[in-house]
Formats: sequence, structure tokens, C-alpha cells
Amino acid sequence: MSKSKINKIELTSFEIELIDIEENKSGIGIFYSPNSKKKHIRFGIRIFDTDGHVGEYIPPRSRAKVIMAASEALSYHIIGKNPLHREEIYRQLRGLCKHIGEVGIGPIDIALWDLAGKKHDCSISDLLGGYRKLLPSYASTMHGDREKNGLSSPEAYADFAEECLELGYKGYKMHGWNKGDVKEEIEMLKAVGKRVGDKMKIMYDAGCHFNTLANALEVGKVCDEYNFYWYEDPYKDGGVSINGNQVLSQNLETPILVGEHVRNLETSVDMLTNGASFFSRADPDYDGGITGCHKLVASSEGLGIDCEVHACGPAMRQLMAASRNSNFYEVNLVHPKCKNPWSLPVYNEQYSDQLDCIDENGNVKVSDQPGLGVKYDWEYIEKNKLNTIILN
Ligand SMILES: [Mg+2]
Repeated sequence: MSKSKINKIELTSFEIELIDIEENKSGIGIFYSPNSKKKHIRFGIRIFDTDGHVGEYIPPRSRAKVIMAASEALSYHIIGKNPLHREEIYRQLRGLCKHIGEVGIGPIDIALWDLAGKKHDCSISDLLGGYRKLLPSYASTMHGDREKNGLSSPEAYADFAEECLELGYKGYKMHGWNKGDVKEEIEMLKAVGKRVGDKMKIMYDAGCHFNTLANALEVGKVCDEYNFYWYEDPYKDGGVSINGNQVLSQNLETPILVGEHVRNLETSVDMLTNGASFFSRADPDYDGGITGCHKLVASSEGLGIDCEVHACGPAMRQLMAASRNSNFYEVNLVHPKCKNPWSLPVYNEQYSDQLDCIDENGNVKVSDQPGLGVKYDWEYIEKNKLNTIILN
């Protein structure tokens, strides 16, 4: 039995440069913006134990300042703990998060799973039980833009869907224009539905932009017409109203997918048992790491429901690879003219979440290397470092 203890935790913020991409001023969503060159912040966490093992994780997405601060506040409490006692640590951290939300847990938990995988010389997916090594994937677009060669018209969305279909994708999800303009969004949904609706699964993520439930219903009827696979976060309840989404579900044929804005297991399960969502939604970065998400996958399975893993990254792949009741891996956020900003420049060359990361059958591979199965480029991180916090 391992008696090792966590003896040091390092949190490092660093910059990456995003080309041709802007962040929406509201902080919600990113979009194509030619000739833009901006620095964005990311962070990495490393957890060291007394046996010399190191668990590492770098969340692929933005919001690094908030999440790093939350993870730092929690990290003080786990120095001296057995790093293999992930359940004990998960329970402790959830208790500490009672009034402040749970986003700080994910990176710590995922780094602990990485450490455990390295200790046992197997991937996280294998630690969880192992189910598959290939994941069916869908292309998930960036938000729309107003650029001539961008996702700026219904036909541009349809053209890009065809391009993704030709690459091998079996699914395509649109994030619209952020304005919640019912007419504009409906035109786009119809264009994509007409062009590829009978050739691949199509999904629509309204990103909670429609003002009213009635707007959401009107758009949902178009999803019904084109046999959409799901309709995600329809309106401005923030994707959290159990009653509102239950009413919507009862009035549409298209399955509703909400849950990515709810931050704990119990509320996610309440959504399912009250009919607010056809699917559950798990995000290792935000939902208590691999530990929290594996519980949601299992809870959903017990209810006979599928759990769709949110967003792309090594942790998402490892989780889905150990899950039977999950349909698609989300390759987001892709665009016809610029790179996916969530495929970070810190991975070894074997790992990518760019548009071409799938095989000819539309699958991504899951690494069978220890832990997360990626090697992070700490030289790059050191070179672009902003700040390191060391706890011991
Ligand atoms: Mg979404």
C-alpha cells in the first residue's frame, strides 16, 4: 500500500498567443477576427508526492485567472494527504466550496488522476475500467462572425458542415451569432439542415442567447423540422431552469441538452429526474474533475440516460473512453479559417484537437500512455510564464 504524501503543489500562469481570434467583450465566446494577435492566459498545476511522482494538468480553456485562484485556495488543504485518496480529497474540497462554487476542484482532481496513472503505469481510462480507445467525434463550430470569409452567413455554416463531412465527421454542431436574433439563427439552421441534415448528425447550441422561452420554442420547432440530434442551452434562463427546460422538452421533439452551467452532481441529476434534459453534461474541468464526472456518467447510466462530455482535451478523452453511455467527443471550437484555440501549444506532437485530429471514420484516438497520456512542454510554459505559486 502506498504511503506517499502530497508534499508540493505548483500553479503556474502563462501566456499563449491567439492569432485571428478575438474574445467577446462579454467574456462569452470567441470568434474569428482576421489579423488579430492577442495574448491569452492559461495555467498549469503540478502535484508532487514523496515518492517522486508528479501529476500534471493544464486546462485547455480560458477563465484561467478565476480557476487558478480557486484551485490555489483549495490546494493549501491537501498538502500532506495521500495523493491516491482522490475520493477523500474530492469530499473535502466539495465541503470547502459550499458557498463559492466548485470550479477549483477540477484541475486538482485531474492532476491527481494523472499522478495515479503514472504511479500504476496505466492510462486514466484504464484506471477507470477501460471501455474503448476510439471516440466518435463531432465538429463544434466557433460562434458566428461578420467576416467575408468567416462563419458570417447561413451558407457559410452549411459550406463548413460539408467540409467537416468530407473530413470524416459524423456530427456537426453550430454555435450561432451570440445576438439571439431568432430570424437569423433560423435561417442558418435551415441552410445546414437542408445541406447535410440527411448525411450527418446535426446539433445546435444556442448558448443561452434567446431572450424568452417562446423564442426558444420557435427555434426548437425548426430543429424538429430538420431532425436535429439535440438542441443545447436554448435561452436566457442560463441553462439552469429545471421547470423551463422541462416545459420546452414537453413541447419539442428534438432532445434538449442542458446542464453545462450547473456545477454540482446533485443538481445535474435533479435535472435528469425532472425531465429538464434528455442528456446529462459532464465537464472534467468544471464538474469536480474526473472523480465528479465519473459519478455523473454512472448516475446517468443508472437512470438509463446518456452523458455527453463537454469540450475537448486529454481529460475529456480519458473520461469518455471509460464510458459506455456517451455518444460524441466534442472537437471545439473549430472554424474554416483559423486554428482551434483550445488545442494548446503545450502538448507533445502526438496530441491535437485541431479540425484534422480525427481519422477517416470520424474518430479521435485515446492515448494509452500513463495518466492523461500527454507530455506537457514545460519549457514553453517557463518561457511564457507570468507567475508561479508554490505551496509546500
Ligand atoms: Mg454548450
